[in-house]
Amino acid sequence: MSSVNSQQRVLSGMRPTGRLHLGHLHGVIKNWTQLQHEYECFFFVADWHALTTHYDDPLIIEDNIWDMVIDWLAVGVNPSTATMFVQSKVPEHAELHLLLSMMTPLGWLERVPSYKDMQENLKDKDLSTYGFLGYPLLQSADILIYRAGHVPVGADQVAHVELTREVARRFNHLYGREPDFEENALAAIKKMGKKAASLYKNLRKAYLETGDAEALARAQALLQEQQNISIGDRERLFGYLEGSGKMILAEPQSLLTKAAKMPGLDGRKMSKSYENIISLRDENDDIAQKIKTMPTDPSRVRLSDPGDPDKCPVWEFHQVYSDEKTCNWVQEGCRSAGIGCIDCKKPVADAIINEIKPIREKANQLEDNMLMVKSVISEGSEKAREVARETMSDVRQAMGLNYR
Ligand code: SF4
Repeated sequence: MSSVNSQQRVLSGMRPTGRLHLGHLHGVIKNWTQLQHEYECFFFVADWHALTTHYDDPLIIEDNIWDMVIDWLAVGVNPSTATMFVQSKVPEHAELHLLLSMMTPLGWLERVPSYKDMQENLKDKDLSTYGFLGYPLLQSADILIYRAGHVPVGADQVAHVELTREVARRFNHLYGREPDFEENALAAIKKMGKKAASLYKNLRKAYLETGDAEALARAQALLQEQQNISIGDRERLFGYLEGSGKMILAEPQSLLTKAAKMPGLDGRKMSKSYENIISLRDENDDIAQKIKTMPTDPSRVRLSDPGDPDKCPVWEFHQVYSDEKTCNWVQEGCRSAGIGCIDCKKPVADAIINEIKPIREKANQLEDNMLMVKSVISEGSEKAREVARETMSDVRQAMGLNYR
């Protein structure tokens, strides 16, 4: 049984659709390596989500799964702090997805902006499938099954977390009354220990009898602090406070990644489909070559033509990698034609090579140690399953599905 508070729990996933690159490193994984020290983290490979768009070539997914896990480990996601797993190894996600699908209005899914956007962007694929429509609801199941309070995502995923909150709210509203709710709540109060239990009861009474909002807030804070109760009990006691019933599923918040904007080699967003990436496994020579052939401000045809860093993707890389002194050197040298583009690119190439080298080397070692990589995932998936099973038992009971 887990005694962690949902506010302490983070969950995020990534689709295994290709090699990881600098965009993932700066946008996502570095952030994860920070979060793992502050929260109880669950990070997973969303292989079912990859199938919603790659159902016609499922074989590429397996290789990508292991490459992705290796890259996470190589960057420093730590299996002794964060739980890493593969979605399809926790089949409870599918069960929750199915049950949520019973009560989710079709319009909620059709209205998610990524639904039409993706269909238009991937015109060569038929995405008018049942599975693709359900993409955000499967994501809701991923999140809700861990009762995660925080979901680190990019701006494009915020709508999915919002949908998740709506689904949780609707679920709690429809099924929040367990038959033995009162009894379970009283048992949960006992588990807090004498002092906290009596404080909780008094605050609840004050709130229910006089509507004292401060008493409610204090009682909620008291629950947050409790170390000895499971998430299920904590949510139950949140519900009991307001007399309404049990909060079975917790409403999550997005944790917007304040990522350094990582442009691609051509200045557009770094993305495999634009062929403008530097992968976390690129060799030093490849990196040097890619930087060397990067486009620059087109008005600098000759060395003597002054340029404008604002029109040059190399400058965006300097903003990620270079210190103030180097940035000033670029600004001045470019605008006065005092430096050439080859000189200007050198510190960027060096910085990226230095950043990638240890990651690539670690990844190569891990590739020779697949047994270890696979055991990280099988252990992580088992750990995730324990949490998922606990939630599913509450969900089944709430929906009247615990017949024997
Ligand atoms: Fe771009 Fe640097 Fe060349 Fe200016 S000097 S155009 S910033 S590469």
